[in-house]
Amino acid sequence: MLIWPLGVRAESRLLIEHRATGNGEAFRFKGVPPPSKNDAATKATFVILDGERDPNGGDLAKLNDGRLPSDEDQPTENFFFRPGIDGGRVRIDLGSNTVIQQVNTYSWHASRRGPQVYKLYASDGEAPGFNGEPKRDIKPATCGWELLATVDTRPKEGPGGQYGVSISNSEGNLGTYRYLLFDIFRTETEDAFGNTFFSEIDVLEPNTTAAAATSGSPTPITSAFTADGGKYHFVLDTTSAPDLTDWANQQLRPVVQEWYPKLVALLPSEGFEARTNVTIRFRDNMGGIPASAGGGFVNCNAGWFRKELKREALGSVVHEMVHVVQSYGRARRDDTNAMRMPGWLVEGIPDYIRWFLYEPQTKGAEITSRNIGRAKYDASYRITGNFLNWVTQNYDTNIVQKLNAAGRAGKYREELWKEHTGQTVQQLGDAWKTFHEKRLAAP
Ligand SMILES: [Zn+2]
Repeated sequence: MLIWPLGVRAESRLLIEHRATGNGEAFRFKGVPPPSKNDAATKATFVILDGERDPNGGDLAKLNDGRLPSDEDQPTENFFFRPGIDGGRVRIDLGSNTVIQQVNTYSWHASRRGPQVYKLYASDGEAPGFNGEPKRDIKPATCGWELLATVDTRPKEGPGGQYGVSISNSEGNLGTYRYLLFDIFRTETEDAFGNTFFSEIDVLEPNTTAAAATSGSPTPITSAFTADGGKYHFVLDTTSAPDLTDWANQQLRPVVQEWYPKLVALLPSEGFEARTNVTIRFRDNMGGIPASAGGGFVNCNAGWFRKELKREALGSVVHEMVHVVQSYGRARRDDTNAMRMPGWLVEGIPDYIRWFLYEPQTKGAEITSRNIGRAKYDASYRITGNFLNWVTQNYDTNIVQKLNAAGRAGKYREELWKEHTGQTVQQLGDAWKTFHEKRLAAP
């Protein structure tokens, strides 16, 4: 960290900070305020008066969108002039004369495109002979512009890192201006790539509270829809996996619309109202977990989904939506003595519904010669799903509904099996296994 105030005009105060760090939290300095997303520049109009933008970078909006790059080499999150030219001129129109307390500029690059070299001019646009669009061959001072600061943040060595520049006035405000003109220069001429990666420009008015800009957050990609005549509301969020947006809207959405109301109808219980708002979001930070559910969210592991789009993707969301409908946590929140639903049923019920009601044609939960050795009624997931299907077909067509209702009320007991089927769960488990052993042994 280097800080050196440079007196440009007697009344000007220029604070320059350089964090020669690599990645990390963006633009946190000691004296230069963090970038803002609700300053006077946020709604201002930016135009290029001279020079050309590099299309490999972001457009001018990157300078006032309140969003920051999240590392030192993110061309599309910065604005910069094209290679080979010596910067250019950018004008900001605040729309009307505005009291300006501070102008802050931020840049970030791993190497020589990090530092900032520019002159800042300002004008109220009212001077006689004012030229609002002076090209490089016109000196701004000759056509109604006032020089506010000359900035050059190039260090002696180690140009990479984050730069924050804050231009203010030790005696009060910078002045009242409508226009700001940045006359921007490249930082070096040894190669064609000397134009600075500018990340943000802020114009602060006095006595305003700046809202912090957000680092590296991508543009949200969400779509909302309803099911069951508007009763249920869903949001599909593919911000972290834009490539899955079309699939989610075309393939997943109709499944959600059809099946969420079905799941609610399949698993009723006294006084129970299912969540009416569910967000299905794709994430890229779930490690090895394909999908999860909790708190009205279904989380989908984007990497796993990409590989499973034609196989298990849709069914896994049906499974997670069952978890949303189960709502087994409620009883235990309200009553610490509530019985916890056994884990093998928490997972077995969603897999029963998924494999035997949603996609029976896939035969994904069959007992075969390969898994018969592991076939225990409480083996969870699809093996328990198979057991629940067998009990449903042979003993009680509503057994899943009854078990679910008990679990949701915090009243699950093993005796329920005997009460509803006349058999203990162990007896049922043995009979189910024997059935499959005989079926597999048959020629
Ligand atoms: Zn599950």
